[in-house]
Order: sequence, then C-alpha cells, then structure tokens
Amino acid sequence: GEGLPRPEQTRVIVVANQKGGVGKTTTTVNLAASLALHGSRVLVIDLDPQGNASTALGIDHHAEVPSIYDVLVESKPLAQVVQPVPDVEGLFCAPATIDLAGAEIELVSLVARESRLQRAIQAYEQPLDYILIDCPPSLGLLTVNALVAGQEVLIPIQCEYYALEGLGQLLRNVDLVRGHLNPTLHVSTILLTMYDGRTRLASQVAEEVRTHFGDEVLRTSIPRSVRISEAPSYGQTVLTYDPGSSGALSYFEAAREIALRGVGVSYDASQAHIGA
Ligand code: ADP
Ligand code: MG
Repeated sequence: GEGLPRPEQTRVIVVANQKGGVGKTTTTVNLAASLALHGSRVLVIDLDPQGNASTALGIDHHAEVPSIYDVLVESKPLAQVVQPVPDVEGLFCAPATIDLAGAEIELVSLVARESRLQRAIQAYEQPLDYILIDCPPSLGLLTVNALVAGQEVLIPIQCEYYALEGLGQLLRNVDLVRGHLNPTLHVSTILLTMYDGRTRLASQVAEEVRTHFGDEVLRTSIPRSVRISEAPSYGQTVLTYDPGSSGALSYFEAAREIALRGVGVSYDASQAHIGA
C-alpha cells in the first residue's frame, strides 16, 4: 500500500475512556493495523484484563502466555512478551492475560507503581514508530501506568446520549499525571466512533464534541459498520478482514490524519480516500 509519513521519534498513544463499549479496543487495533500496513512499525500494548485487543489481533493470550502482567508485576522485559501479529508485517502485540485483573491490586504495594510501564517501554530496544496502548474501562493504576508512559491521549467518543459524561474525570486525571509525573502528556486526538450521520442525535453529539474540543477532533469519524464488529471473531482487524469496507477506509483515513499531524502536515479532507 501507499506509505504514511513516519514520526521521527516513537509516538506513544494512550487510547482511553473509562466508559466501556465506546470503541477503545476497536480503535486501537484498527489504527495500529492501518499504520503498520502503510509502512510503520507499531506495537499494541493490551492493558485490559479482558484481552480483547489481543484476541482481535489473533494473538494467543491464554493464562500461560507471557504477558503485560509479567512486565508490570514481575518486571519481565517487554521484549520477552511481544509477539508478531500474523498477517500484518510491522505490527506487534504485548498481550493481556486474565491475571492482569489482579494487577490493579498487586501494583499498589510495588515501588514506582505508576511508572512501571513507562520504564518497560524505555528499556525496549526494538525501533518503533508507534505504541498504542488499549486501556481498560476504568481510571485505576493500569490506566495511570498508560498515562505516565504516553505522550498523547486519544479519546474515542461514541455519538450517543451521555457521550461527554465522565470525560471530565478522565481529563482531570490527565492533568494530574501531567502535573506530577509526565509533563509531556496531552490529549492530542478525539475520534468519533460508531457514528451514524443520518441520526439527529449523532450529529448533535458530534457538534457538541467539536465545540468542546475543537482541533483535537479528527475530521474523519468512524461509521457504525457490521464488518468492523465481525472482524475480531476471525482474529483479524477490519483492515485485513474487509479492506474495501467503509469501516476499513475510515480507520485508514483516521490513521492518515494522525500520521500527518505527527509530522506537522495539515490534513486535507478533500484528499480523503473514502468514496462518497
Ligand atoms: P471498548 O474497548 O471501549 O470497550 P470496543 O472497541 O470493544 O469498546 O467496542 C464495543 C463493541 O462495539 C464491540 O462489540 C465492537 O465490535 C463494537 N464496535 C466498535 N466500533 C464499532 C463500529 N464502528 N461499528 C460497529 N460496531 C462497533
Ligand atoms: Mg476494550
């Protein structure tokens, strides 16, 4: 495929929203695949004990598999848990296993409990263009570890009632982490997901989000698409499951916007690759 500009330094993007079901995991894996399919080296870190990102990428994550739990709690080097994603060159995954559910408690008594992921990433020597971290639907120590490790926060917002509810809490956490532990952290990207432009509600919510966040909101929004929701059950992203679908094209466009922003090039929506 056609190349996307690659950043000079690894961009660590935290995909967070403490609400469940808004499209965090879907966004993480499909953006990661889009970026990798267009020439970048990308690592997905699955930080949700459910392991949905691992599943969606076709990565084995049964209880015995070396996982991000071992990295966070046992200080195992990240390189020892990273697996290549089948079928997508340049895409890698650090899987989550179910024992990660206990990490939220186990981390409390460990030294540098908020910065264990940051340290693991800093010690990882393979060259990467992007690290995308899929967060659990909570603001506990796992999400705090992601916020300390990242530079950017990407918030997927589902265009529904109460879309903005609870975001204040996430934004305050971002401010707290920036103030105390990670001065480079900022909300760089808002992505509207499961968008149905035909409904009044969706366009009202989209307008509200754009008023509230301005330029952080990507021009591209992700439509509701059956192909997007089917892909994970085949252990695939929609980019390989149905590359020509509107879902695949919209995630590719969102990735293109993100890649261009990273090198300071403004995005021209008239150049979008999505058909009318
Ligand atoms: P989260 O990680 O925030 O909990 P998910 O990414 O798991 O959210 O998405 C929640 C559910 O919605 C999943 O079943 C997923 O397949 C589905 N889904 C996500 N995005 C879309 C979309 N654009 N179109 C249709 N279904 C979607
Ligand atoms: Mg998820």
